[in-house]
Parts: sequence; C-alpha cells; structure tokens
Amino acid sequence: MTTTETTSLVRDYYEALAEGRLVAHRCADCQAITFPATTCCEACGSFDSTDLELSGRGTLLFASHNLAACHPRFVPYAPYAYAHVILEEGITVQGMLQGVDGTPDAIAELYPRLPLPVLAEVLHTDDLPVLTFRLA
Ligand SMILES: [Zn+2]
Repeated sequence: MTTTETTSLVRDYYEALAEGRLVAHRCADCQAITFPATTCCEACGSFDSTDLELSGRGTLLFASHNLAACHPRFVPYAPYAYAHVILEEGITVQGMLQGVDGTPDAIAELYPRLPLPVLAEVLHTDDLPVLTFRLA
C-alpha cells in the first residue's frame, strides 16, 4: 500500500458519499465485501477487488447515545443517537441516527422495537459528508 493509494481510497470514499453513494470493495478471490474500501480484502488479504455500490438499506440492531461530540464537526448535533446497523449486504457499520433524540430515555424507548429497518442518509457537515442513518 502506498500513501497515494490510501489517499485515493479516502478521497474516493468521501466523493462518493457526497453524492449519496456508499461504495465498498468486493474481493475478486473470496467475494467478501469491505466497507469502507481498503487496499486489500479484510477477509483474505487479496488486492484484487471491484467496486460495489451498497444499497444503504439496513437493520438497526442497537442504539446508544453520544452526549458529547467526539469531533468539533459534531458539536452542532450533540447529543445525538448513535446507530449500530447491519447493512443488507452483511456489513456492520455505525453512525449517527437521525430523527431520534440523543437522550437516554428516547433511545431506551427504541429497545423493545428493535430490530428496525433503517436507510443510510448523508449528513453534509461544514467540512465532510458523514454517513448517518434514519429509521425507514
Ligand atoms: Zn477476499
């Protein structure tokens, strides 16, 4: 892996996300999906892969809250709910859960209803697009 390849993968991830697309890599050798894409397959280490656009559909498995922003870009959104999601392609991801108050009481009200369908949604912050989810 070179710095240029890594920079290109990061740039490609954010450029696609800015367009509302989630682009993963599908391994040509074992078919495993890696998201966000990396230079090699997380399952077998192969460097032979193709791009795969994910659906953005998933299932909310669990939610937690983030009372304090972990980065200045998230200060305007704190406190926020944090989603733990399995995408329909089988990939587990985390991200802000929009449309649900980020309070312990609001999140506790979700628990008896889980699992729930969610859709990926891009939040355009001042500096970067951010992968988030919203209840479907
Ligand atoms: Zn592989």
